Amino acid sequence: MSPARPDPRHAGRTGDPVELTRALVRVPSVNPQLSPDGTGEAEAIGLCADWLTDWGFQTEVLKTEPGRPSLVARIGDGAPRTLLCGHLDTVGTEGMEVDPFDPVIRDGRIFGRGSCDMKSGVAAILAVGRAIARKPDGFPGTLIIALTSDEEHASIGLLDLLEHGLTADRAVVTEPTSLALCPANRGFVWANLTFRGRAAHGSLPELGRDAIRSAGYVLAALDGYEAEMRRRASHPLLGGGSIHAGTIQGGTTPSIYPAECTLVLEARTLPGEGPDLVTAAVRRMVERAGERDPDQDVTVQTGLSRPGAEIAADHPLVQSLSRACRDEGLEPRLAGMSAWVESAFLIEAGIPALCFGPGALEDAHTSTESVSIEEIRQATRILERWVRSAGSAESTGPADATGPADATGSAESTGSAESVGSVEASEADPELPSRQGDG
Ligand SMILES: [Zn+2]
Repeated sequence: MSPARPDPRHAGRTGDPVELTRALVRVPSVNPQLSPDGTGEAEAIGLCADWLTDWGFQTEVLKTEPGRPSLVARIGDGAPRTLLCGHLDTVGTEGMEVDPFDPVIRDGRIFGRGSCDMKSGVAAILAVGRAIARKPDGFPGTLIIALTSDEEHASIGLLDLLEHGLTADRAVVTEPTSLALCPANRGFVWANLTFRGRAAHGSLPELGRDAIRSAGYVLAALDGYEAEMRRRASHPLLGGGSIHAGTIQGGTTPSIYPAECTLVLEARTLPGEGPDLVTAAVRRMVERAGERDPDQDVTVQTGLSRPGAEIAADHPLVQSLSRACRDEGLEPRLAGMSAWVESAFLIEAGIPALCFGPGALEDAHTSTESVSIEEIRQATRILERWVRSAGSAESTGPADATGPADATGSAESTGSAESVGSVEASEADPELPSRQGDG
């Protein structure tokens, strides 16, 4: 256990994003749905609520489920309404090689669970909130801060906030993007396959039917299906979709023909590829596999899904945040978010949103999770400048982000698209003339 915790009120008084990050890392907020000993977000949300209230925000805590609150805080009033949003739950701490809740600083980085995903992003939001509250000079409109629970599982927090009427004219979710602007994210769809065979003694092949072997024909077909997915659709920032076998279960003992095998496939999808489309495509693949497996007896059901979503790469929100980056000396980069993120729910609710925050997705959820201090400070400066720009013409333009973005012409990736959480990287300048990425 860590030594006595420093008083978090000190971090609140400094309003320094690095101190706020460390104070938040010291408060365990492991999602109890992911880890049986996870304590949930209540203490972390309570701490943020105290800070925000002290700074002059009107703060409301929603108790979505026992021990799983979320909060929304407001300052200012009228339009435009700017939303900064982040989650306070983290994944578990099993196997961590650094003390998860003692945020040591080494080599210009803060270590600990949630340091990258995404307590540093939340700290940047809080620091911006405090700066605006202390010095509102000329800040027009409303600043809304939403801090959520359960993003790492089922997003009960954000869904609850949206149900209670959370809305805004523009939003940034400060997930770790290495300070790239991510206006598009991939979604996912689970397909649950149940293969039925016939149980029989392992020595009696004429009586038995092997459900696991049936599943094997479908597994063998995944390569072809994925190649087709990639050929069919390519997104300038996200590239193509993908599919993999997530879990498989079947059989009771080696000497009995397995009567059942269940297989869960996960497809990672592009914006616009909903669960119906994926399930229909999986059914076609299963049918084709069945041509080589005459005994096939299978049902395919749609499981959990989350939408891919995007705003146009030249949306006023992208432009205004790009300008804030440039004004703070950072050349803006556009990227696709390979993972599903809560900005997708905001976009679905009609709130133009993108992800932009400190930390690299590659460091999230790892045994040595950490975040660059310089990135925390840069993100805070850029976001404060962007929030203060709320009155400029560009950022009050029509907020039409619900339709599909122009996926072919307006993402100015120069060369191959960057994807946060994957391998390729490139520069992109939203103010250059349109050029289509290679995908
Ligand atoms: Zn996250």
